[in-house]
Amino acid sequence: MKYVQSGGTTAAGPSDWFTGAVYIDGVQSPGEDSTLSCAHVRFTPGARTFWHTHPQGQTLYVTDGIGWVGTRTSTTQEIRPGDVVFIEPGEEHWHGATPERFMSHVALNEADDEGRVVTWLDPVTDDEYSA
Ligand code: MN
Repeated sequence: MKYVQSGGTTAAGPSDWFTGAVYIDGVQSPGEDSTLSCAHVRFTPGARTFWHTHPQGQTLYVTDGIGWVGTRTSTTQEIRPGDVVFIEPGEEHWHGATPERFMSHVALNEADDEGRVVTWLDPVTDDEYSA
């Protein structure tokens, strides 16, 4: 067993990956023993990811607030605590808070053979966000 006591440092989401203020607590990084990547991500109102893809897909588990998840091919979906979202490998999408609520989720990804879990694309425009 390995035990990590609560603590450490919450990371601010970089501005070339996110619009608005986003805070990330890492749970697990891919390494020699596992391809699993896991993080708890908190979005402030209006904040969202850029468009992006995951080579092995992604599972999101919403833990707080109200958010939105969007893809290129479907209407924006509202997400609430307890909801689970499965993103297909290579599917272009974004996720974030609604304009007037925080939203937090646990994000689970598996790394590909090169250790990548995400490919970042363009920002989600205000029009795309509000659609
Ligand atoms: Mn994603």
